Amino acid sequence: MPYAKIYLNAGKEESLKRFHPWVFSGAVNHIEGRTTEGDIVEIYDSKGNYLATGHCQIGSIAVRILSFRKEKIDGNFWKQRIESAFQLRQNLGLLRTDNNTFRLIHGEGDNLSGLIVDIYGNTAVVQAHSPGMHIARMEIAEALKTVLGNIIQNIYYKSESTLPFNAKLDAEDDYLFREQSVSDIVVENRLKLKVDWQRGQKTGFFVDQRENRLLLEQFAHNRSVLNMFCYTGGFSCFAMRGGAALVHSVDSSAKAIDLTNENVALNFPSDTRHQAFTEDAFDFLEKTEKGKYDLIILDPPAFAKHRKVLKNALQGYKKLNAAAMEKIREGGILFTFSCSQVVSKEDFRLAVFSAAAQTGRRVKILKQLTQQADHPINIYHPESEYIKGLLLYVEQER
Ligand code: SAH
Repeated sequence: MPYAKIYLNAGKEESLKRFHPWVFSGAVNHIEGRTTEGDIVEIYDSKGNYLATGHCQIGSIAVRILSFRKEKIDGNFWKQRIESAFQLRQNLGLLRTDNNTFRLIHGEGDNLSGLIVDIYGNTAVVQAHSPGMHIARMEIAEALKTVLGNIIQNIYYKSESTLPFNAKLDAEDDYLFREQSVSDIVVENRLKLKVDWQRGQKTGFFVDQRENRLLLEQFAHNRSVLNMFCYTGGFSCFAMRGGAALVHSVDSSAKAIDLTNENVALNFPSDTRHQAFTEDAFDFLEKTEKGKYDLIILDPPAFAKHRKVLKNALQGYKKLNAAAMEKIREGGILFTFSCSQVVSKEDFRLAVFSAAAQTGRRVKILKQLTQQADHPINIYHPESEYIKGLLLYVEQER
């Protein structure tokens, strides 16, 4: 069956000509043929010239582009896209005996809008963010097996909270393939980490902070470290290896604290330098005595998921950073992040600047941090840049 055709309003083809991977609903003039949500459609300009092929959906994004060439979206298409993504990760040197976790598919960054795939040892965790990717999941799984067959034996599907509708996933949907016993311990730069992809946040682990964890390790020697919003304790483990004098991990979720304790014990059994606290970040910082820590990591959840709450989110970043700056020892190092997609690099920097001004601390930016190379940013889709980070040196009060 030929794909249904979507014709755009005059002048609305410009962004597609610049390879932006979304069509907004306001750009659509009419549809030729029948479509249901998640179907593959072809896009044409108002004069009838072919522009692109993609998955259609209901909502402000009407189509997520898969290809700017007139081609069939079949097994071969998925295989080629996955192959080229895999090749990039191989070129980046991410598949080693001392590192077996990385992001294989980063949505628009890998020209597959709506799809995330993370590799955890011999398990791939697939996450669909669009109805089209949900429908294509078995084809995607087949292509993953073909391309990465000697690496992955299990494919777990985790999309219950990322689809725009309730996909009513049942237990059988959890594993698209399960051929071998699953190992939930992965290796990131020689450290072992337990990943809970079934119950954990996102796909189970924040692979997007790998290089920042290595950087932190370099700064940790002899420092008293506070890892705020620790989740699975990745930063804590790298601080331990870096020779920190003590590491305190804080998260409001008791489950996260259990995982952090488990991960620290896995790598540093009976090492008494580490302690974890189930507590709210702001409460913990308020109780903290000034000068107790000289390295603080702030990696909170996204404070803004929508543009509407941007102002509140920026206030939140300012308040959090001010609280940390107030308490950090002179000459302290602050790793501070925002993973909100709607918060720009400039917005975040302004929030941190305001925090510095409010606390009267002298603050220097040592380095600007971003997401890792296996989370590539599509140059035609700047929205795919989501992690913003600053490595700060905090001196005495002015
Ligand atoms: N830094 C982590 C990822 C952080 S995810 C890593 O590298 O893996 C955000 C974490 O913040 C979650 O674990 C969540 O439980 C925790 N969290 C959310 N609100 C919080 C709050 N008010 N105080 C403390 N922790 C909070």
